[in-house]
Amino acid sequence: MSYARQSVALLGATGSIGVQTLDVLRHERERFELVSIAGGEQLSELAAIVEEFDVKRVAVKSDAHRSTLRELLSRSVEIVVGDEGLSELAASADIVVNAVLGFAGLPVTLGALRAGKRLALANKESLIAAAPLVAAARETPGAQLLPVDSEHCAIHQCLASSPARAHYPDVTRLLLTASGGPFRGWSEEQLKGATKEDALRHPTWSMGAKITIDSSTLMNKGLEVLEATALFGIEAERVDVVVHPQSIVHSMVEYVDGSVLAQLSRPDMRLPIAYCLGLPDRLAHSFGAIDFSTSLELTFEPPDRAAFPALTLAYEAARLGGAAPAWLSAANEVAVGALLEDRIRWCDVVAVVAATMDHYVADPLDSLASLHENDDAARRWAAASLER
Ligand code: NAD
Ligand code: MG
Repeated sequence: MSYARQSVALLGATGSIGVQTLDVLRHERERFELVSIAGGEQLSELAAIVEEFDVKRVAVKSDAHRSTLRELLSRSVEIVVGDEGLSELAASADIVVNAVLGFAGLPVTLGALRAGKRLALANKESLIAAAPLVAAARETPGAQLLPVDSEHCAIHQCLASSPARAHYPDVTRLLLTASGGPFRGWSEEQLKGATKEDALRHPTWSMGAKITIDSSTLMNKGLEVLEATALFGIEAERVDVVVHPQSIVHSMVEYVDGSVLAQLSRPDMRLPIAYCLGLPDRLAHSFGAIDFSTSLELTFEPPDRAAFPALTLAYEAARLGGAAPAWLSAANEVAVGALLEDRIRWCDVVAVVAATMDHYVADPLDSLASLHENDDAARRWAAASLER
């Protein structure tokens, strides 16, 4: 088969998604050329990627990071800095993988879509916070938003047979599966004693620290409800969560005739990454292939909403709309950061988010400036409630 080689920008190259994307790219060197990367603090890892893939451009956080990286490199590459550097790299490759962590990934999401590129989005926080701005950016000719998040990638595949009419009138609901995390089945009383170390032991997925904590509180699933509404234009009332501890069914779509379509694989993020890179082609690989020669049990149960209030907070943010999802995600980033630094207990994380949301003042979120103001305000309120 012959095809034009496509250029790829991998922004957030040194993290969990970044490293798994590099592995997909190693298998597909004839199809894709890695031309640019970005990262936060792991400069020697960035230098190693430049050497291995002969990367041409790198984005780093500051001038100090740029000087350190220069010293680590044996070849000359262009190094750009900060949010501007991220937007620039996001605008200059055929495919942009946004694997940056948190709200810091916003310039990548907006930069890629506004330049009419294919955006393979792992960074759910930027889409959730900036949904109205992302919706406008998606109108750019050529822009394409494909979800790397495994649940949304599953839904994207299950919707493929549905005529692409606005808001999917033939879909009754999206069913997001959740592993339930390490605390599935714990009582509210037991959860009061949960620790950071317990939370970091995810039963089925190996991921970065922040999303692993989010999985333990079910805030990750709450954020994914908001992500689904923004991606597919389906209101939150038509998005349900089902606990599926085996993490084999990655999500499902129920149609008006009662038929439910699902996508299955072993939990391996390289599969959704490869799907987003290859579409409309399926790349030949066996990441995630299921062995059906041994018995396989798949179970489903409803989430415990009382023990995991993050879900209710997320549905409430969806109902409020505007900047409420941005507040939820920003407050959660502050609270999870504090847990990872041992400044609060596990059971305080969602409480900090709830306390922050009490201060939210309705805002339609009509500009980037207003998004930054809302993000700042939510972070200030979250920081204040950490002290309590
Ligand atoms: P991680 O912490 O392992 O990696 C984050 C990456 O972002 C690193 O390369 C880091 O250097 C980079 N980064 C952080 N701040 C930056 C900045 N200011 N500028 C440039 N780069 C910066 O995180 P992860 O688990 O790979 O998650 C990345 C994103 O993907 C998150 O939004 C997460 O929710 C999403 N996601 C991850 C998984 C998973 O399996 N890990 C699954 C679904 C979605
Ligand atoms: Mg997910």
